[in-house]
Amino acid sequence: MSGSEVVHPHWCERSECHVGEPGVLYATHRSQPVVGCADPDTGSLIDVTLWTINGGKPNILLEFPDGVEEGTELTEDQAADLVAAVSRMLAVARG
Ligand SMILES: [Zn+2]
Repeated sequence: MSGSEVVHPHWCERSECHVGEPGVLYATHRSQPVVGCADPDTGSLIDVTLWTINGGKPNILLEFPDGVEEGTELTEDQAADLVAAVSRMLAVARG
């Protein structure tokens, strides 16, 4: 390999990562997606993936494989807020 050695985060899934490949602009390290929840008939409802660019803090990407939107990207703090909000709503729903 020529040039500087690429350092991958420990969670980087090399088959999803294009950092260090020639000619790739804005390449991101990506983790293997984790299925957030699944429907028995349609499969994954939410895929959760970590990604980062240029060695910055990782963002959390929420994607909806069965949905029309592209997905939503959260910072670590926003993801923590979302988890807390979902936990509160779940507690309310379950009484
Ligand atoms: Zn990587």
